[in-house]
Formats: sequence, structure tokens, C-alpha cells
Amino acid sequence: MKKAFRYCPYCGSTVQRSEEGGIERMKCPDCDFVQYVNPAPAAGVLILDEYGQILLVKRAFEPYRGRWVIPSGYIEYDEEIRATAVRELKEETGLDVEIEGIHAIESCFDDPRGNTILVLFKGKISGGTLKAGDDAGDAGFFPLDDLPSIGFECQRKIIADLKNSIS
Ligand SMILES: [Zn+2]
Repeated sequence: MKKAFRYCPYCGSTVQRSEEGGIERMKCPDCDFVQYVNPAPAAGVLILDEYGQILLVKRAFEPYRGRWVIPSGYIEYDEEIRATAVRELKEETGLDVEIEGIHAIESCFDDPRGNTILVLFKGKISGGTLKAGDDAGDAGFFPLDDLPSIGFECQRKIIADLKNSIS
């Protein structure tokens, strides 16, 4: 099991492996705390320009450093999910966006930091100037038939599905 606790975060006892419904979880023998390991939700926004080109950012950090992705990021605990998509786009590209609806939802299993669920919205640029942020090495629009190397399996699936829906 990934990221398994060794000690109970509530009472400090050593946790033990326990099976519930065929799934192995860490369980505290003293206070009955059970560690449920769940995917972390992330949000992003898909932007296509008037020529049908997709907005991508180049990852400046691992994992997939140097590969390109649709702008997205983790949701803060008290943050509304659309606000995450807007904030991440602003941080990574300098652009303001108006969210228009959901484009795709995908599970991602190849992030070494942990499994995630990416909620990808559709959006239209409403302001700002394109400029790569601190988390992004570069940012730009790419034609769907001439894309750079894309990071994350779920992002490659989303882009492949997008290409199929257009062609
Ligand atoms: Zn405990």
C-alpha cells in the first residue's frame, strides 16, 4: 500500500494491516482509526484559441519536468474547484479565464506523488497577457497536429480524445 501510516495519527499506537472488503488498509488496534488512501483532486482548464490551438505549459519541476501539460493543479482544502482552475491558469500563464463548463474528468495513475482525479473545465480567455509563471518553464498555444511531448497519461488521453472529436 502506498503512503501507509506506521503510527496512528490520533493516539500514536503502531497501526496494523487489516483487510476490509478485499482492500488492505492500515488500522489502529487501540482507537479503531482506519487510514483510507484516496486520490487527490486537481483542477485545470482547457483553452483553445480561434485557430483551434491548445494552450499548454512546460513543466519546470518533476514529475515530467520538461514535458508539456494543460494548465492544472491541486485544489486547496477550502477552495472552490472552479476557483482552482482560474488560479492555476493565472499562475502558470498570466491569463484570466472565464469557466464555461466541464470538458473531461479523468483518473491519473502515473503521478509518483499519488493518484489524482483531474477535473478539466472548458474556458475562454477574458484578460491578461501570456507569460509563463514560476511553476512553468514556458507557455504557448500549439496546433493539435503538431504537439510537443505531453506529460501524464491522463493528459495524453484527454488530448487524444480531443483530437478524435475534432477530426
Ligand atoms: Zn489510534
